[in-house]
Amino acid sequence: MNTKPARVTCPHCGHSMHLSIDFSNGDQDYFEECPNCANDVHLHMHIDDVHKKLDVSISADDEQLY
Ligand SMILES: [Zn+2]
Repeated sequence: MNTKPARVTCPHCGHSMHLSIDFSNGDQDYFEECPNCANDVHLHMHIDDVHKKLDVSISADDEQLY
């Protein structure tokens, strides 16, 4: 199991949170609850196999565009 620390910023309130992301399963989508504002943060992980890089994109799932 490979985990990698990642820092993401909540799209709702701007709070920074640290996550341990398991990137051994390839691309993943999951939801993390922001500890500050308790809104769901949608995380999409993409593994770049060529560069062994982890890309994390974050979106809020409400209709409001940030
Ligand atoms: Zn938040």
